[in-house]
Amino acid sequence: MVMNKESSRKQGAGVGASTPCAACKLLRRRCVQEDCVFAPYFPADDPHKFACVHRVFGASNVNKMLQELEEHQRGDAVSSMVYEANARIRDPIYGCVGAISSLQQQIDVLQTQLALAQAEVIHMRMRCCYSSPQDASPSSRDTSQTQQPRSLFYMDMVEQPHSHMEDYSWH
Ligand SMILES: [Zn+2]
Repeated sequence: MVMNKESSRKQGAGVGASTPCAACKLLRRRCVQEDCVFAPYFPADDPHKFACVHRVFGASNVNKMLQELEEHQRGDAVSSMVYEANARIRDPIYGCVGAISSLQQQIDVLQTQLALAQAEVIHMRMRCCYSSPQDASPSSRDTSQTQQPRSLFYMDMVEQPHSHMEDYSWH
């Protein structure tokens, strides 16, 4: 209710009460700002937004979908319909499903890479723990070389539990 009032006030202030919204202008019908379901979401200065949604879903379907929702949900519904319509126009076969499945594939690839990297970290740590006592003894030059990588790995080991805790807190 508040959102609708604000939007129509913005509309009225910017464009003037007699100017039809982008939807009514395209449909060539009279627009009464207070009663028009499209007016708060399809301002006259952005005709492309409604044109896309109308092309993909059809104006009467958009009208029906908005009428079925509470007023506070309509802004989000319009945003998602505009997103879906644009995706469908760009990609007539897959629409936004194309974007979702390509992101899903990226997630799968990255999760595999992450698992491999984590396995490599464990492998390197184990190699470091086994090799360091032998390397540390022979000469003074050798100890200064082996101590640096060792301290780096200790830093890793301090950081690792934190990142694990963050992982758990997400679930
Ligand atoms: Zn209108």
